[in-house]
Amino acid sequence: MNQDCLFCKIIAGEIPSAKVYEDDFVYAFKDIEPIAPVHYLFVPKTHICCAKKINAENSSYIAKIFEAIAKVSESENLESYRVINNCGEDAGQSVMHLHFHVVAGKKMGWGKQSLG
Ligand code: AMP
Ligand code: ZN
Repeated sequence: MNQDCLFCKIIAGEIPSAKVYEDDFVYAFKDIEPIAPVHYLFVPKTHICCAKKINAENSSYIAKIFEAIAKVSESENLESYRVINNCGEDAGQSVMHLHFHVVAGKKMGWGKQSLG
């Protein structure tokens, strides 16, 4: 656990969150400022700052996250969804604990305009 990390504190239960899924490796909760009718954040239960720091030692967490996303999408009947990871400031990463946004419940555009 990183004492200065918001998502480490959420995982530890020190800051409240609306949990949607948990197992030994993964924690998932509702985004506090949703951009779609469904907007969840899936995080590893170990502090990895960003996608750049995924390596052979910790990449099993990423597999577990995508397994968890598949389970939640099944149990919540999410026919269609988008998984987003922002890595670094220009990409819009604001919390430096690796996380995957799962957004669903609306028709989504794709193309240049979707990159803002
Ligand atoms: P990113 O900008 O990709 O780093 O995503 C960080 C996300 O965390 C944003 O979508 C925020 O709305 C969300 N967020 C920040 N604080 C909280 C919190 N306390 N509980 C739930 N989501 C949060
Ligand atoms: Zn952390």
